[in-house]
Amino acid sequence: MAEPQPPTRSRFPGSGLAKGLAVTLRTMTRKTVTEQYPDVQPELPPRTRGVIGLFEENCTVCMLCARECPDWCIYIDSHKETVPAATPGGRERSRNVLDRFAIDFSLCMYCGICIEVCPFDALFWSPEFEYSETDIRDLTHERDKLREWMWTVPAPPALDPGAEEPKELAAARKTAEKLAAQQEAAVAGSAERPAVQPESAGAGAGPATPPAAGAGPGTAPPAAPDGSEPHADEQARATEGPTRPAGESKQQTDRPRREGRE
Ligand code: SF4
Ligand code: SF4
Repeated sequence: MAEPQPPTRSRFPGSGLAKGLAVTLRTMTRKTVTEQYPDVQPELPPRTRGVIGLFEENCTVCMLCARECPDWCIYIDSHKETVPAATPGGRERSRNVLDRFAIDFSLCMYCGICIEVCPFDALFWSPEFEYSETDIRDLTHERDKLREWMWTVPAPPALDPGAEEPKELAAARKTAEKLAAQQEAAVAGSAERPAVQPESAGAGAGPATPPAAGAGPGTAPPAAPDGSEPHADEQARATEGPTRPAGESKQQTDRPRREGRE
C-alpha cells in the first residue's frame, strides 16, 4: 500500500492568494444564475412535473392508475349506472360513474406512473408547483381541484414536419370527409327529384329529362316500350330518392360511424 505523500509547498510566497483572487475575479464577471424567486417566476422546462391535472371527461373509472400507483395515494370512488338501450329492442348497458377522484400530494413521489398507464389520457402533468399548505390534509386534492390544474397543462409540442399524421386525427378527418361527401350526394339527389316527378305524374307524357343509361337512384324509370305507364313500385322507388350516395355500398356508409366510435 502506497504511503500518503506530504503536501507540496509552492516555491513562490503568496501564489495561493493570487489563485484565490483569480477564481473570485472569474466568478464575478460570469452571468449570475441566482433565481430571484418569488419575485421572478422561474422558466421551467415544458415537461416539468409540478402537479397532476385530471380531465375527468376522459376518465372511465378503470382504476388502472390507482392500482399501479406505488404510493397508493390515488383515491377513486364510483358507482354503476344503467344506460337505456339506444335503439328499440337494443340492449341496456351499464357504465361507471365517477364519484370521487383525489390524489394525496403529501404521499405522491411524482413518479408519473399513473399518467403513463392511463389508457384514456385523463391525467396530465402541469408545471404548477406553488401549492404548499400549512395543513398536510389540504394536500389531498379532490376532483374539482385536479380539474383546475388541468387548465394549466401546457399544449403539446408541435409535431415534427415529417411525422406521420396521428391516427386519431387521420380517422377524424376521414370521417368528416365521408360525412361531407354523403351530405353533398344527398343534396344533389334532392335537387334532382323535382325535375323527375312531373314525368311520372303525367300519363303518356314525355319525360322531362331523358333517362340516361345507368342513372343512379332518384331518376325516373324508363317508359315501357309499348308507351304504358311504369309500374307503381318502380315509380315509388324512383321518387324515394337515394338512401345512400350513389356507388357506395352499405358497408362503406356504415364505416364512418364505426370509425367515429374508435
Ligand atoms: S405520480 Fe406516482 S406516486 Fe404520484 S399519484 Fe401518480 S403513480 Fe402515484
Ligand atoms: S387510469 Fe385513467 S381512465 Fe382509468 S381511472 Fe385512472 S384516470 Fe381514470
